Amino acid sequence: MHDILPSALPDWQRLEQTVTDTFASYGYDEIRTPVVEKTELFARAIGDATDVVEKEMYSFEDRNGTSLSLRPEGTAGVVRAVLQNGLLYAAPLRLWYQGPMFRRERPQKGRTRQFHQFGVEVFGAKGPDIDAELQVMCRQLWRALGLKGVRLEINTLGTAGERASFRQELHAFLSSRKQQLDADSIRRLDRNPLRIMDSKNPATQELLHDAPALQNHLGPDSLQHFDEFKHLLDVLKVPYIVNPRLVRGLDYYSHTVFEWITDELGAQGTICAGGRYDGLVEIQGGKPWPGVGFAMGQERLVELMRTQSPSHRRTPHVYLVLAGEGTTERGLQLAEHLRQEVNGIRVQANLGGGSFKSQFKRADRSGAALALVLGEDELQRGTVTIKHLRDNSGQKQLTLEEIASWLQAWLVD
Ligand code: ATP
Ligand code: MG
Repeated sequence: MHDILPSALPDWQRLEQTVTDTFASYGYDEIRTPVVEKTELFARAIGDATDVVEKEMYSFEDRNGTSLSLRPEGTAGVVRAVLQNGLLYAAPLRLWYQGPMFRRERPQKGRTRQFHQFGVEVFGAKGPDIDAELQVMCRQLWRALGLKGVRLEINTLGTAGERASFRQELHAFLSSRKQQLDADSIRRLDRNPLRIMDSKNPATQELLHDAPALQNHLGPDSLQHFDEFKHLLDVLKVPYIVNPRLVRGLDYYSHTVFEWITDELGAQGTICAGGRYDGLVEIQGGKPWPGVGFAMGQERLVELMRTQSPSHRRTPHVYLVLAGEGTTERGLQLAEHLRQEVNGIRVQANLGGGSFKSQFKRADRSGAALALVLGEDELQRGTVTIKHLRDNSGQKQLTLEEIASWLQAWLVD
């Protein structure tokens, strides 16, 4: 789990602002759910044969013996909240969320145990139109963030029934090569062989090149859904790659799955992953509402922003140098006056006195463009001295009445 330091926050803040604006421009409303939920919610929604539930959750007993967990992902909580609050009357419902998630993964580059996600969930829309709109929205977000070189990979998982017949064929194929599988894959072989397709082990991926294809098990409806999805992406000019081995290992997924991937972050290059989960709302006790959504990793997005289009710290415009008898009172008043009168100004007042020399050092370190000097002379004359810190424009005296409008004009400039 990591601290997010002040030097990194400009990227985080720009990301959050851009996501908020972008999702709003596609008609999404934000929802916020608790960080802690009952463990059984995740066991049911994510499935107890998954890495996340088997070994990654931070779970603990409440004083009355209820098992609770820090949320490892956002979808389960959103579905619970939507059902509990009867929000589906307004379907199709477009929601987004953000916040910290917790998984006890092996620490490695691109994976932390507390990480942050933005996610989107759409309920009550079953057509490929929304599947495609989600991709345009992601592309728009990359554009707005100035990110380049992120590719879209897509696949279809068909329906649960179609996957069942594929699963048998895949199981037979993998069983006959059991001695080439790693321990994780052997464990998954009988419980959920589809998840082996998701393996990060290069040897396993190699083996899967000759594996049977799910495509051969798809019926006409599934093929049509996928064809229309691809057609809409073509119309909207979103380039994509069909990756037949892209899966989500959970049973309630159906039809469309997708990932947005970059090669610039090393092995953990997926910045956004999602798909259609038409079975999930029903698993959680609702009517069978179709659902589709994605989650993106904020840490990975920030890392990419840092290399491709870094943001800058919001340094103060003005550092207030206050030296001499009575200047603290007048200085704090002046700073307050400027913040109220000058639209958008950022003022940092010197704290704790000090010589002119040491205060100018602090002013320099603050990154401010201007120093406003209030010494005893200025106090007597009712003026302030303005000094440009980053260029040779020199200095000038202004009266306390003039200073606000001068700063406003300077700022607009
Ligand atoms: P993988 O198969 O790589 O473990 P996943 O299926 O667990 O991926 P999701 O649950 O779909 O991943 O999460 C969506 C996105 O959230 C990921 O693509 C990634 O960007 C981010 N993410 C997931 N886990 C972590 C983590 N431990 N640290 C940082 N980001 C993460
Ligand atoms: Mg994972």
